[in-house]
Amino acid sequence: MANEVRADNIPVWAARDAAPRDVRFPRLTTTVDADVCVIGLGGSGLACIAELLASGVRAARVVGVDAHVVGGGAAGRNGGFLLAGTADFYHDAIAQFGHDRARRLYALTMDEIDRMAAETPRAIRRTGSLRIASSDEELADCEQHLEALCRDGFPAERYAGPEGRGLLVPTDCGFDPLRRCATLACRAADAGARLFEDSPAVGIEAGEVHTAEGRVRCERVVIAVDGRLADVVPAVASRVRPVRLQMLATAPTDEIRLTRPVYARWGFDYWQQLEDGRLLLGGFRDMAGDEEWTDSSSPSDTVQRLLESFLRDGLHVSAPITHRWAATVTYSENGLPVFEEIAPGVIATGAYSGTGNVMGALCGRGAAAWSLGARPALVDLLTSSR
Ligand SMILES: Cc1cc2nc3c(=O)[nH]c(=O)nc-3n(C[C@H](O)[C@H](O)[C@H](O)COP(=O)(O)OP(=O)(O)OC[C@H]3O[C@@H](n4cnc5c(N)ncnc54)[C@H](O)[C@@H]3O)c2cc1C
Repeated sequence: MANEVRADNIPVWAARDAAPRDVRFPRLTTTVDADVCVIGLGGSGLACIAELLASGVRAARVVGVDAHVVGGGAAGRNGGFLLAGTADFYHDAIAQFGHDRARRLYALTMDEIDRMAAETPRAIRRTGSLRIASSDEELADCEQHLEALCRDGFPAERYAGPEGRGLLVPTDCGFDPLRRCATLACRAADAGARLFEDSPAVGIEAGEVHTAEGRVRCERVVIAVDGRLADVVPAVASRVRPVRLQMLATAPTDEIRLTRPVYARWGFDYWQQLEDGRLLLGGFRDMAGDEEWTDSSSPSDTVQRLLESFLRDGLHVSAPITHRWAATVTYSENGLPVFEEIAPGVIATGAYSGTGNVMGALCGRGAAAWSLGARPALVDLLTSSR
């Protein structure tokens, strides 16, 4: 790994023209008043803010704070897949949560993908996605996955091609997660919402959020900090666990030509190629033992070596590696997100188990409606026992 051009823990998305304009927001150093204060300016918190504005809340009464920068967590540092469904494959979700619940959740995430594509079209590519089997056993599982989707009328087809064999979900997408965050943040700020960076929430209670140097007096609070959920919401800490996920990216290459994001080996590994030819590869966390159950967001040698071996020997790509990065996400016990009112007027969302791009947007939007007094159907879908 010695002679590479390597940006240090910077996602490849930052090398692209992510923002519609320079995205910089001030620190919160005073006391401000708001109807709703949103904590966390990743994809979920920004979807919440977009929904608040769309629902008619006066923009000046919406405040968003982030501990670091817009999209600085996993929301701007992920694999760039928009996949329908929950963290479990559809047939597994049916077995775990019941048919009606799994079907309704899948349909909601499909609708959310459409909404996201309409909202930030320049960040999203309507490519479809491939689930590729790594063994005969997994191929048989892909068949069950396919049958379950088709039985309920969800779009999916059997696939065999250069990537391998498995199934194709034509409605899934690839996207630039940082571009989406930057676009939503600029749009919210242009509309008049007040966003603050480098302003970690250090005290959260009904009616008030204390940041390191300031204070937000507010009617409602939405906490949307997937990667730091256990720290920020101690009430759920015993039910969730932080995990580090890692990726690398190469310089543009024509050694391989992929038109769709691929996830393989039971979803542990994933890769996609951007329009400019860069290849992005992530995964292998399960092969590093307990090392990856951490809230550290720095790349580790173990996983980076595994990724590099697969890049060279599995995908046969020799292009130089230009980016290696990591970020933290939170896993839940049962694969369903936390979406709860943890105190009167304080809603927490997160723990998407590594699949928060769509589910996070859905929950963020749901949290907006909930904070305005309408209890979304999503609450029961995500929290009721089977
Ligand atoms: C390498 C990798 C690959 C992934 N690939 C995919 C994928 O392809 N598809 C998919 O669906 N999901 C994927 N995920 C998961 C997905 O990225 C996350 O679930 C999702 O982005 C979570 O977004 P979020 O806005 O909820 O939270 P986050 O991005 O975790 O956090 C939001 C913000 O909260 C801020 N914050 C934290 N603490 C505080 C505080 N005290 N006060 C104020 N702000 C705070 C952070 O700075 C951050 O900006 C991947 C994740 C990683 C790391």
